This record gives sequence, structure tokens and C-alpha cells, in this order.
Amino acid sequence: MLGAIEAGGTKFVCAVGDAKGTIQERIQIPTTVPEETMPRVVEFFKKYDVEAIGIGSFGPIDVNQESPTYGSITSTPKQGWRDYPFVQTLKELFGVPIGFNTDVNAAALGEASLGAAKGLDSCLYITVGTGIGAGAFVQGKLLQGLSHPEMGHILVRRHPDDKYEGKCPYHHDCLEGLAAGPAIEARWGEKGMHLVNRPEVWDMEGFYLAQALMHYILILSPKRIILGGGVMHQPQVFTAIYHYLPKLIHGYVTLPELSSYIVGPGLGDDAGVVGALMLANIANT
Ligand code: ADP
Ligand code: ZN
Repeated sequence: MLGAIEAGGTKFVCAVGDAKGTIQERIQIPTTVPEETMPRVVEFFKKYDVEAIGIGSFGPIDVNQESPTYGSITSTPKQGWRDYPFVQTLKELFGVPIGFNTDVNAAALGEASLGAAKGLDSCLYITVGTGIGAGAFVQGKLLQGLSHPEMGHILVRRHPDDKYEGKCPYHHDCLEGLAAGPAIEARWGEKGMHLVNRPEVWDMEGFYLAQALMHYILILSPKRIILGGGVMHQPQVFTAIYHYLPKLIHGYVTLPELSSYIVGPGLGDDAGVVGALMLANIANT
């Protein structure tokens, strides 16, 4: 049996299942401080005989196996989690192989294994929620270099009508600062789910996301792009992306039919947790 943890900024999803991605049991635990959250995680897995555990975590995290702090969360502003030795803690308690990657890399792996990119050796998984992040599955592996990619913080051209200064504490008007859920709320004065009948909101959102997708396509040439997260519950965002992206690419790259190339997650909300099971399976082999 394999264990999976989708460690998010608001909640942890813990599950046990198999290498085929079938989930047998799962629980949700609120993300508070490690001293509260982690004992509940441990209590859940102690009930099972897990051979390996996969973790898809909020970040930034240290994924460099050569690093002395491998397996820890690094510069998060989330209280108590900065420098938290995630892998080391579980390894000491369970003594099994631990797979560790970002939440979005796990989701990319889940979607490539069993979801909307099943059968492809390349895809991107992008979440547009409280933040913006992307995981890349490239030539059958999760992309990693010095660290994991941080594709949410790229710079984009501003919409001519956008006077909002941006919300990223590091870069102000990077993509995340202009287009993640909290930026939408700050710019328009209401949460996204209450702005359904404001087409200009979703047009601007698509204007920014299309630029980001253009960069990702030019640099990584993914075979499919999967967009998840709370903001993507607005179908109007997909429509706006389909409108703006061809104008930006301007025929330079030949893309498949956009409605099958840029899609929602095939695994729905389970992309991350199923991906974490796959991380456990890889760690175990
Ligand atoms: P997280 O990123 O924390 O894992 P979500 O992916 O659910 O969580 O993203 C939360 C963000 O998405 C919030 O900023 C919220 O306002 C926004 N959001 C959630 N549902 C919708 C919706 N139906 N339409 C537009 N925005 C939404
Ligand atoms: Zn930023």
C-alpha cells in the first residue's frame, strides 16, 4: 500500500492507495502549524502498512537531493512551516522511501499518468488559485534544475486598462501578483465567485494567462496544458485564453485545436493526491 500527502496552504489531503492511482481511504486536515497538523498526518498513516509515501507540497521547497536541507519547506511566509524538515520527519517515523515534490509537479505527474495528459510524455499543470504555480512533466520526468520551476512569477505586459498595482510581495505585478485569486479580489473589490457577470474581469484574466501560456509554450513546448485551481472554475477564463493566445502566437507555432490542447484537469480535484501516490510509487522502485 502507498501513502500520499497533498500538502496545501489551507488543507492537507492524506490518502492511501495503490500504484494504479486507486484511492482506498482519505482524510483532510486543516493546515495550521506543524505541531498540530503533522501528528494528525502521522496518526492517519500509522493505521496502514505503507511501503512508501509521496508528498506534493506547497512551496518553495528544497527538492535538490544533494542539498543538506533536502526535503524541507524553505522560504514560506506560513507561520511555523519555514525550514520545516518534511521528508526527514516522516522518514524517521516510518522508515520507508519518501517521494517529495511541489504540489503542482505532483499534479502534473498525476494528470500525465491517469488524467488529461494520460499517455503523453509531456504536459504542464498550472494552478490559478490563491497563487499561481506550474509543474512540468518533460520527456517523461518532472522538470527540475537548481530547484523546481516557479512559473507563476514571470513578468507580463500590463493590460492598458489595469491600474491595479499587483499583489506579489516579491515582485508586485508579476503574473501571480496580477492574476491569482487574491489579485482579482483586490482589483475588483469582490471574490471571483461573485464576479461571474462581469465579463471584463475574465477578459483581463485571460489576457494575462494567455501571455504566460505563450511563454511556457515557447520555452517548453508541452504536448498538453492543464489548468486547474479555483479561478479556473470560471469557464469564461478558458474562452478568453482561446481568444488571446492565437493573437499572441500569431501563427509562429502550430498548435493543436486549443479546446483540446488547453484543458481542465481530467482528475478534477484529485490531480494532486493521485500525483502524490505516483511519487510514492516512483520512490518505491
Ligand atoms: P488554493 O490555491 O488555496 O489551493 P483554490 O485553488 O480553491 O485554493 O483557489 C482559491 C482562490 O480561487 C481564491 O482566491 C478564490 O477567490 C478563487 N476562487 C475559488 N472559486 C472560484 C470561482 N468559482 N470563481 C472564481 N474564483 C474562484
Ligand atoms: Zn511574484
